[in-house]
Amino acid sequence: MIIGFAALIGVLYLMKIRSYDMYEKEPLLTLLAVAIFGGITAIAISLFLYDFVEVRHNFLDAVFKIGLIEEASKLLALMFVYLFIRKDFNEIVDGIIYITAISLGFAVIENVFYALKDDQAILTIVMRSLTAVIGHIAFSGYMGAAFIIHVKIHRNYSGLLLALALSALAHGLYDGVLFHERLNFLFIFVFIVLVMGQLWMLKILLGFSAFREELTDASFTETGETVSLHCPHCALSEKPKAVQFWNIRAAICDFCGHLLVHNQNIRHLTTYFRPALNARSFTKQLTRKNRSEFLDSNQKILFDAKSMTLCAKPAELGTWLAGTNIADRERILGLPLVGFILKHLGMRYLMPLRV
Ligand SMILES: [Zn+2]
Repeated sequence: MIIGFAALIGVLYLMKIRSYDMYEKEPLLTLLAVAIFGGITAIAISLFLYDFVEVRHNFLDAVFKIGLIEEASKLLALMFVYLFIRKDFNEIVDGIIYITAISLGFAVIENVFYALKDDQAILTIVMRSLTAVIGHIAFSGYMGAAFIIHVKIHRNYSGLLLALALSALAHGLYDGVLFHERLNFLFIFVFIVLVMGQLWMLKILLGFSAFREELTDASFTETGETVSLHCPHCALSEKPKAVQFWNIRAAICDFCGHLLVHNQNIRHLTTYFRPALNARSFTKQLTRKNRSEFLDSNQKILFDAKSMTLCAKPAELGTWLAGTNIADRERILGLPLVGFILKHLGMRYLMPLRV
């Protein structure tokens, strides 16, 4: 029962992780197999390496022994698993998705070990699922990113080393504050920073995906309904046709053919076409404006503040979104420190490709 319960939570996490892989989802069964066999491989390597060291509960050992051993084991497990998933390992973000599956398998097996030693097994699993499992996921993404660039884009040994160092540091910081009596109040802060950092990197990698569709005149399909939306471009629309693409609902002006994207759907549009940007705050900023304005220098992309509608010809909107997505990526890679780290993890090899 303990194993079943721990595994069930693992599967739920796996499905959640898969939901972030929005352009080309990895097969669930492949992910499950990677979690199981990758997790077992990583645990086995860890147990082997732990035989050679003695671990004390302090910061240094948390980084240089626990962190380094467990993260190196996950990276080696990914290298091994890669031999079987070459075909599916085809999108930059897959690096994070697959190493996350391995981390998940690792954490679930670890949970079972801890629970079997504990009288309150179920409680232990629940508590660890909310902390250690998410923690393990948040440590390792750097290595996944560096590894997929290494095998698919450009030789990236220095990126792999940097990624291993970052993952070991993240892992050590997490364990270190837990071990430290006077610093353990910082745990929740460290935890949130690590998780947010990982999610952000995943979104940046999605920005580089070659599987994102371009927005063209043919992207949106009619749903057969009409909606009552005002067209800021011609002001003549009577019955705009409702259209949909992915989970973006919009309308096409029946008079001038402009695409009308209303309010919250601007957020979905941003999430899909500019994943590296924080869609929520971008939409908030936009809807807080009290006058209409063009978002581009060519004056093609109009945001109408009164009706909270984005209005543009679909193909022109597509060109603008593709261009701003590249600008988003370059802005992030140009940031001090964070940009430097991301570039040296291997993203500098993605820059000129503009895929
Ligand atoms: Zn119109």
